[in-house]
Amino acid sequence: MDLRDRPADTAFRVEVRQFLDDNVVGEFAALGGRGGSGDETFGFETRLKWEHVLADAGWTCLGWPTEYGGRGASLTEQVIFNEEYARAAAPGRVSILGEGLLGPTLIHYGTPAQKERFLPPIRRGDELWCQGYSEPDAGSDLANVKTKAVLDGGTWVITGQKVWTSLAHQSDWCFVVCRTDPDSQRHHGLSYLLVPMDQPGVEIRPITQLTRTSEFNEVFFDGARTHVDNVVGAVGAGWKVALATLAFERGVALLGHQLSFVRELDRIIAVARENGRSRDPVMRQRLARAHVELTIMRYNTLRSLSGIDGPVAPPEASIAKLYWGSWHRRLGELALDVLGPCATVIDAHPYELGEFQRSFLFSRSETIYGGSNQIQRNIIGERVLGLPPEPKGVA
Ligand SMILES: Cc1cc2nc3c(=O)[nH]c(=O)nc-3n(C[C@H](O)[C@H](O)[C@H](O)COP(=O)(O)OP(=O)(O)OC[C@H]3O[C@@H](n4cnc5c(N)ncnc54)[C@H](O)[C@@H]3O)c2cc1C
Repeated sequence: MDLRDRPADTAFRVEVRQFLDDNVVGEFAALGGRGGSGDETFGFETRLKWEHVLADAGWTCLGWPTEYGGRGASLTEQVIFNEEYARAAAPGRVSILGEGLLGPTLIHYGTPAQKERFLPPIRRGDELWCQGYSEPDAGSDLANVKTKAVLDGGTWVITGQKVWTSLAHQSDWCFVVCRTDPDSQRHHGLSYLLVPMDQPGVEIRPITQLTRTSEFNEVFFDGARTHVDNVVGAVGAGWKVALATLAFERGVALLGHQLSFVRELDRIIAVARENGRSRDPVMRQRLARAHVELTIMRYNTLRSLSGIDGPVAPPEASIAKLYWGSWHRRLGELALDVLGPCATVIDAHPYELGEFQRSFLFSRSETIYGGSNQIQRNIIGERVLGLPPEPKGVA
């Protein structure tokens, strides 16, 4: 894979940079690129406004085909956009799950009517989405989903509980994996429903995290309703659709995330220079190692993404997830070591964390969500190395 910009890529980069230079100004520039993971409430209204600025200029949903309002951008163009976005410290995106997960899933599995109804508001940033997969007894073992949905005339009625639902409190809709065949087991008899959040049958209870914010929530469905047509794929065949969404989650959606690591590492190095810790040979080696590993990560990610064609993640995506989740957790530890004793003091009352503290705390979750490290190792062992499969529990 040749990673140098071709002339057309250079022109694209210039166009992106020009747009960002012209528009990341005023209140958008004042956000300083904040609003990412663990920081999702920061400047939310301004970031929502920014989403509309991006959409109006056609800079959302780059990878979607043009017939659905995207740009049909190549992987290289998406990488360039994300690199420039990180460089410009543009505001943290609010529509990640709709644009990166549900949109591509609908493009592959949605009916024409679903595409027409749901894709445009995602592209415009008018409707935000969350992902209702995990339950108290269905995390790594997702096939154990117990939330059920039954048909009542022209409406699905949903009952059950989801947990760890990121951004549910900011979302208009949720894509929910639920059991529509009451006699089914495991991955059979599941369906993939699109459920509006603003209704009496939905209760959202925020969960306070280490960062003292509530990026995720418990979501209770107690007779929640959605139209009979809001099922993606065939009724009872939701497992395939759910896996397709996960493939997008482990694919391109991770890219934007990684590119912000470059800026984060740059800031850690700047602080180390400022406070003199970069003169410590061990610290210098750790910083250099982080830089080298980040460069390796970038190339490996690009290589694994170039193998993604449609809604199936190649097993190598597990290597990328294991690598970046673990790397970023170590970076959080390095950042606090660079800060030294100051790392243990909060910025301001009541609990205003500094950037490095927030990142250190939130990064603990990155080896869990999107498939934990242990699950990624199982996938790598079985599908990449061809080792014997994990023993299944004996009933
Ligand atoms: C910040 C964050 C955001 C999230 N956002 C969402 C969201 O928006 N929507 C959503 O649906 N879910 C979300 N999740 C949930 C996430 O997908 C689950 O936490 C994850 O799949 C693990 O499931 P669990 O927490 O139930 O842990 P469990 O599956 O109970 O696992 C507990 C421990 O056992 C290990 N383990 C489990 N099975 C195996 C095995 N077969 N082999 C080896 N080890 C194993 C795990 O690695 C883990 O260490 C989020 C999680 C986090 C942390």
